[in-house]
Amino acid sequence: MKIVILGGGPCGLGAAWRLAELGHEDWLLFEKGNQWGGLATSFQDEDGFWWDLGGHVLFSHYCYFDQVMDTLLGKKDGWIFHEREAWIRMQDRFIPYPLQNNIHRLPKEIFWECFKGIVDINKNNFERDPIHFGEWVDAIFGKGLAKWFLRPYNYKVWGYPPEQMDWSWVGDRVAPVDLKNILKNAVFNEDNLSWGPNSLFRFPLNGATGAIWKTLAKKLSQKKIHLNQEVARISVHDRKILFADGTTEEYDVLLSTIPLTSLVRMADLMSPFDSPPPLKHSSTHVIGLALKENPPDNLSTKCWIYFPENNCPFYRVTVFSNYSPNNVPDINKQWSLMCEVSESSVKKVDRKRVIEDVIEGALNTGLLSSRNEIDHTWYAFVEKGYPTPSLDRNRLLFPVLQHLEELGIYSRGRFGAWRYEVGNMDHSFMQGVEFVNHILVSGEELTLWYPQIVNSEHPSGKKR
Ligand SMILES: Cc1cc2nc3c(=O)[nH]c(=O)nc-3n(C[C@H](O)[C@H](O)[C@H](O)COP(=O)(O)OP(=O)(O)OC[C@H]3O[C@@H](n4cnc5c(N)ncnc54)[C@H](O)[C@@H]3O)c2cc1C
Repeated sequence: MKIVILGGGPCGLGAAWRLAELGHEDWLLFEKGNQWGGLATSFQDEDGFWWDLGGHVLFSHYCYFDQVMDTLLGKKDGWIFHEREAWIRMQDRFIPYPLQNNIHRLPKEIFWECFKGIVDINKNNFERDPIHFGEWVDAIFGKGLAKWFLRPYNYKVWGYPPEQMDWSWVGDRVAPVDLKNILKNAVFNEDNLSWGPNSLFRFPLNGATGAIWKTLAKKLSQKKIHLNQEVARISVHDRKILFADGTTEEYDVLLSTIPLTSLVRMADLMSPFDSPPPLKHSSTHVIGLALKENPPDNLSTKCWIYFPENNCPFYRVTVFSNYSPNNVPDINKQWSLMCEVSESSVKKVDRKRVIEDVIEGALNTGLLSSRNEIDHTWYAFVEKGYPTPSLDRNRLLFPVLQHLEELGIYSRGRFGAWRYEVGNMDHSFMQGVEFVNHILVSGEELTLWYPQIVNSEHPSGKKR
C-alpha cells in the first residue's frame, strides 16, 4: 500500500514517524514550505532573536508523544522545564490565572459582582444544555466573570461573538468554578496558580519550538520527505497528485494535513462536496518585540499573560526570552515579548497599523515603559491560525471527512480535521500516528473521533 502524506507539520511528521517505526516502506511526504514544522515552526531573525508563530507550549495528553519528545531532544538536556506562570492583566494589575480562583485580587466592586454571579449560578437548575458558548459562559461562570473577563477575552482570541460558537470544545481547557476554593482564597488572601493540563511544560533549549520538528525530520529517511513541493490538484478518481512544478505522484491512501477547505478546492470531488464547506477560522498576527536590557521585575518569571481589555489589541503576550535564554542572542542584555492579535471576518484589524497598535498597547498595559526599550520588531501573519468551533461546524465537517475517507483520503491535523479541541501539537502529531495505526493495524483514531476521551484524565491518573 502506497501512502502519501501532504504537509510537514506535526501531523504529517507524526504519521511519517509511525510509518518508519512500523517498518512500512512505501510512503512519501510532501511539504510546500522550505522548512519543517508547519504552524509549529520557528524563525531566527537577522539579529539572532528566535520567534514562534505565537507562544507554543508543549502540552501532552499522551505517553507515546512524551516518549517521542524524549527520543528527539533527550529526557533532560535538550529542554528547559517550566512551571507555568500564566497571568491576567486587567484593572491595572496582574492577577494569577485562572482568574475565577483569584477574583479576590480584583477591585472590591468587581470582586463582589463576580462573586455574586457565581453564587447565583449555584442556585440555578439547568434543564437543558446551553445552546451556544455565550450561554455556557454565563451558566458556568456567572454574569460577573462573563462580563469582566470571559466574554471580552474570548472575543479577542476567537474573533467571533460567543453566540456564534459552540461550547463542546472546552474539555479540560477551562478551570471549573469552585465556590469553596474561591472563598478560601479570598479569606486567607491566597492565590491558586497551578491548575490545568499544562501547569508543567518543557521548551527546547535551542532553536525554539521548531527545533522539535526539524530534529524529527532529520531522523526520517531523507529520500522519502520533500520540501518545496506544493500540491496544486488532486485527481481523486485516479488517486493522483499534481504538484505546482508539473510533476505527479500516485497513491493508494492519502493523508492530507493541509486545510480541509483548500483540499476540497484542489480535489475534483462530485456534488454536493465540490465546493469547500463554509467552516470558520481566524487569522493570527504575531508581533515580536526584541527588547534591550532586562525585563522588569514584574515580568522576569512570567510565562504568558492574557489581556481581556480594549486598551491593547493583543489577547496574549508571551515573555519569550523566559522560555529559553537562547531565544535571544544575549540574555544578559536582551529580552523579548511575543504578542498575538486575532482577525476574522467580523473582527477586522488595520494591518498597516498593527505593529504600531501593539507597541501602544504594550505601553498602555505597562509591559513597556518607553519606546526606547525596543531594539526592533518582528512580524508574521498566519492566515489560518485558529479553527473556529462554530455552531454548525460538526454538521458541515463530518459528511466531508466521511466522503473523503470513502475515496481513500484522510484529512487530519489542526486544519485538516478543523477540530480546535484536538488541534494542539500533541493532538495533531497523534492524529498522524493514529491514522497510520488505523490504516496498517486497524487501530481506533481516538483523538479525532473522541476528543472528550483523550482530553480527560485517564482513570489511572497517568497519561494515555
Ligand atoms: C497562534 C498559535 C498558537 C499556538 N499555540 C500552541 C501551543 O501553545 N501548544 C500547542 O501544542 N500547539 C499550539 N498551536 C497549534 C500548533 O501550531 C498546531 O497544533 C500544529 O502546528 C498543527 O500541525 P498540523 O501538522 O496539523 O498542521 P500545520 O502545522 O498547519 O501543517 C500543515 C502543513 O501543510 C503544508 N501545506 C499546506 N498546503 C500545502 C500544499 N498545497 N502542498 C503541500 N503542503 C501544504 C503547510 O505548509 C504546513 O506545513 C498554536 C497555533 C497557533 C496558530
